[in-house]
Amino acid sequence: MAMIEVQNLTKRYRDRSAIEGLTFSVNEGEILGFLGPNGAGKSTTMKILTGFLPPSMGTAKVAGFDVFEQPLEVKRRIGYLPETPPLYPEMTVRGYLKFVAELKKVPGRGLKAELDRVAGLTGLSDIMDRVIQNLSKGYKQRVGIAQALLGSPPVLILDEPTEGLDPSQRADVRSLIKGLAGKHTLILSTHILPEVTMTCEKVLIIHQGKMVAYDEIQKLVSVH
Ligand code: ADP
Ligand code: ADP
Repeated sequence: MAMIEVQNLTKRYRDRSAIEGLTFSVNEGEILGFLGPNGAGKSTTMKILTGFLPPSMGTAKVAGFDVFEQPLEVKRRIGYLPETPPLYPEMTVRGYLKFVAELKKVPGRGLKAELDRVAGLTGLSDIMDRVIQNLSKGYKQRVGIAQALLGSPPVLILDEPTEGLDPSQRADVRSLIKGLAGKHTLILSTHILPEVTMTCEKVLIIHQGKMVAYDEIQKLVSVH
């Protein structure tokens, strides 16, 4: 079953197209790699899929809900790691995650268990009481992923989740993402080819707003 369905999606900023005529779908439990250089249109697509930015043309549906007509229904079903997550630097990890969980209306009774669950998944259990601004880039990124996981949304959209990380932090985030597949439907947006070949089964390559390839990775590149 298609969890994400995109038809002829186009976004224009004034007279320029940021994306043009994208058509693709992601089945339940699948990871789609969304690959393209800087400026290709990745963030624009992610912001439309998460209901934050209206498309100029075309449609996108998440779990059957139209992102333009039912953005609240869509937001409720998506965990989103934006390219620059708005972490509150002076908060502790726990305080921040609790704040996001409340915004997402995670029930009060289950709140502590839910914080423990996402902390365990992202390797944050031992640093829940530390202040965000004192964390390394890699740990800040885990906090960004942890907030996306709160409430166990069926769909996860991760925009450049490994950006700015060193190779070992990258490997950690990659194995974390692999572990999430199956339980969630995932889009992983990145400009780094190995991030896609090591984590995803399918890839969509975007260049100057247009889709230039969309297939199983094994059919496009040799990964061994
Ligand atoms: P990526 O995430 O792949 O780096 P973006 O989706 O951020 O690409 O940007 C795609 C294109 O749209 C770029 O040329 C960018 O400069 C342009 N763009 C993005 N946001 C805006 C905006 N608010 N107004 C005008 N142009 C924009
Ligand atoms: P992020 O890096 O968080 O994805 P963007 O790349 O979209 O953010 O850019 C940050 C802000 O600047 C956004 O409000 C975006 O709409 C705007 N923006 C990006 N590119 C352009 C552009 N070429 N012209 C005008 N505004 C832009």
